[in-house]
Amino acid sequence: MEEKEILKSLSDEIIQEMNAWNSSNPDATFLEIEIKARELVSRLEARLIQGSAQAKETDKWSERGEKERPTCPHCHTPLISRGPRKRNLQGTRGRKIELERNYGTCPNCGAGFFPLDEKLHLQPGSLTPLQRGSLL
Ligand SMILES: [Zn+2]
Repeated sequence: MEEKEILKSLSDEIIQEMNAWNSSNPDATFLEIEIKARELVSRLEARLIQGSAQAKETDKWSERGEKERPTCPHCHTPLISRGPRKRNLQGTRGRKIELERNYGTCPNCGAGFFPLDEKLHLQPGSLTPLQRGSLL
């Protein structure tokens, strides 16, 4: 399924679940409604973030010639792709966000890193930047 279709069906699912929840919780307070809505919408949020971040990896640099590959930040040598690796992040309400990105190593100095993580300014750790910030 295309990403846009996934988001649409997720959004329909959220509306349906909220309606069902409203029907079975006729005496809900505003706070309870707010908590339920946030819990449901966080699923859409996580998927939106995942799809948008993952789309930045679409240029399959591992299949390109040397001149078009990302270079080592230390010695500027074109990287060698070591294949895709998954990374799990925790977004709002602990929602899982999964990224698949190519790991590259430098044939000259041996440094290894993920060009997508660099591009997105993604720090090590399992929390998304916003989650990390909200803990401070
Ligand atoms: Zn290097």
